[in-house]
Amino acid sequence: MEKTERLAELALHDPLTGLANRTAFDQRLDEALRAAAKSGSRVAVVVRSVRQFGLIDQMIERRRRDGLWRELASRLHRVVNLPGNLARIADDRFATFRYGFDELSDLAQRTEGINRKAGADPFVIDEEPFDLSLSAGLAIYPSDGRDGDTLLRNAEAAFGRAKADGESYVFYEPSLNAKVAERLRLESRLKRALGAGEFVLHYQPKIAFDSGRITGAEALIRWRDPEDGLVQPLNFVPLLEETGLIAEVGMWVIREAFAALRGWRAAGLGALRVAVNVSAVQLARRDFVERVRAVARGYRESGKLDPGGVDIEITESVLLRDIEAGIETLNLLRAIDIGIAIDDFGTGYSSFGYLARLPVNAIKIDRSFIMASSAEATGKSIVTAIISLAHSLGLKAIAEGVETIEQAAWLAARGCDEMQGYLVSPPVPAEDMASLLARGRVERVWRQSP
Ligand code: C2E
Ligand code: MG
Ligand code: MG
Repeated sequence: MEKTERLAELALHDPLTGLANRTAFDQRLDEALRAAAKSGSRVAVVVRSVRQFGLIDQMIERRRRDGLWRELASRLHRVVNLPGNLARIADDRFATFRYGFDELSDLAQRTEGINRKAGADPFVIDEEPFDLSLSAGLAIYPSDGRDGDTLLRNAEAAFGRAKADGESYVFYEPSLNAKVAERLRLESRLKRALGAGEFVLHYQPKIAFDSGRITGAEALIRWRDPEDGLVQPLNFVPLLEETGLIAEVGMWVIREAFAALRGWRAAGLGALRVAVNVSAVQLARRDFVERVRAVARGYRESGKLDPGGVDIEITESVLLRDIEAGIETLNLLRAIDIGIAIDDFGTGYSSFGYLARLPVNAIKIDRSFIMASSAEATGKSIVTAIISLAHSLGLKAIAEGVETIEQAAWLAARGCDEMQGYLVSPPVPAEDMASLLARGRVERVWRQSP
């Protein structure tokens, strides 16, 4: 090949994947748009990537990610209809375009099919398998833009939405730009929130069925947003996770939980435990155990707290993501007297084989099953099965979201160990938790019902 040809070749190709690069994509799209303008046809611009990029970004070094992009490129090349139009337009994003589709529903179906096929098998990065799914954003010529830049920008906005919502695909609509801007604004406010002391923990008591005693409290984060007031975790924890801010905020939660526990114990309010929720991103950080240990050690050495007392709750999907690393981390935590509960149990896909190997102390039965248990027979069988599974593995069974006396009575009769829920108390500020503790036990109303 002539040197000039080789240079031209390089200028239009992505060296890592061999696909067309952004420059080449722009040129081809321009040609396609000119042709479409003449013939009056529509063109769809599609931007796609793996949905879990935030997690990958934090867990895997940049260098090791190259293999992932190469693999994704070759899978996409195999499954898209016109591989010649496929390009890698940024580090982690691929684009393609197509014309000659009849209906948007048809386009949607194809997009979904491509995502499914390309994401069907786990991606192996350094011999470690990762289950990833793909998201796509679509923008249509001429309705969503008349030039390549606008179309690509709008397809990217739609992709951002698809990724954030966990959707396979999203079509661009004008309100998306406003939503993206809103999200960026939220992100920057969250960045300041920790330093500004805007996070608070509320506590929800856990009650032992047999004695009615408060055995512990779950710490649940809230954000006191100066603009919007008290914001619930489901509205900001996912964003903290995506941006990696959860690492620092999560450590604050743990320090705060230790401090609350110290306060209650110093006030003679009993030997309760406090549980904090820990997300995948935190658990995957290599320094997590070390940082928790440092906090625990600080309290122990100052003689302010007996060893033990703080537990963590982790959802089962998080544990199953990387079972070996998970077991190792949990063992290290157990060694410093941190108890472990599997949260939202029943919503993931635990295999019993794994469950038996996990060094955990308790299983929290997801609220959806507790609700179902008062409505349907199958709900009852599932809860009964989870309780006996927990007991046969030597674990405590804790029911989440108990709202009625009937539910509590039924659970108590099935031998469930503890419960949490609005029946006894919603999550409350630390001072209110102290008053609940001062009373010591709650009236066992569930014993009066059949
Ligand atoms: P989760 O750990 O499963 O917490 C239980 C959720 O159920 C809490 O919602 C609690 O307020 C709610 N709940 C408790 N009893 C009842 C009831 O009887 N009825 C109903 N309808 N709901 C009840 P919340 O506080 O909104 O927290 C939602 C989720 O956010 C938590 O689910 C947890 O996964 C996450 N989260 C909360 N705080 C933190 C945190 O500090 N760090 C992390 N990583 N995640 C957190
Ligand atoms: Mg929890
Ligand atoms: Mg839960």
